Amino acid sequence: MRPVYDAVVVGAGPYGLSTAAHLLGRGLKVAVFGKTLDMWRHHMPKGMLLRSHWWATNLSDPRKDFRFDRFFEDSKYEKCYPLPIAAFIDYGLWFQQRAVPDVDETFVSSIERQDDAFVIRLVDGRESVSITTPIDRQNSTGSPLDWSRILQTTGTSAASKDGTSS
Ligand SMILES: Cc1cc2nc3c(=O)[nH]c(=O)nc-3n(C[C@H](O)[C@H](O)[C@H](O)COP(=O)(O)OP(=O)(O)OC[C@H]3O[C@@H](n4cnc5c(N)ncnc54)[C@H](O)[C@@H]3O)c2cc1C
Repeated sequence: MRPVYDAVVVGAGPYGLSTAAHLLGRGLKVAVFGKTLDMWRHHMPKGMLLRSHWWATNLSDPRKDFRFDRFFEDSKYEKCYPLPIAAFIDYGLWFQQRAVPDVDETFVSSIERQDDAFVIRLVDGRESVSITTPIDRQNSTGSPLDWSRILQTTGTSAASKDGTSS
């Protein structure tokens, strides 16, 4: 039996995690696939310093419970500029454990539309289904999805808009 979700998030970077946090916050059944902060942990220069300030580098959750200032209270890090990449990675992992605890670190190999669903195939052969066309369909909780609002609230998520070092 293939698990069925209201939404599937492909990717567990800052934007994927923030999107998932908002979808979960709306009570939806959500699957998240990808390796948590993979790009930050494995594909960025070691010892890099972020150009973005810590206060402009929050990941986004619906109740703003997991912002950077809260992480500083919970960790060994102190507010500083520039922020070392290790601090951002640890913040991202801290966020993920609290806001999006169930990340499936398997990669997606394909996504296929089948009638009113998307079939998501994973590299290990598993399949899941995401119900589709949320504009006019109902989610598994029975209430209609307002995707424009969901996307709006996640639009400011993740890394800063102005001072990135990329
Ligand atoms: C050198 C460098 C420096 C940067 N500095 C800054 C900075 O200082 N401040 C800032 O705000 N931004 C910075 N950025 C930009 C920042 O990295 C990106 O904006 C951000 O990481 C994008 O997040 P994302 O959620 O889209 O996913 P990404 O971080 O790009 O991660 C991709 C995710 O997708 C997953 N994935 C990939 N393929 C699959 C698949 N087939 N199935 C499932 N999952 C998959 C990966 O495992 C990972 O979880 C920098 C970028 C670079 C390259």
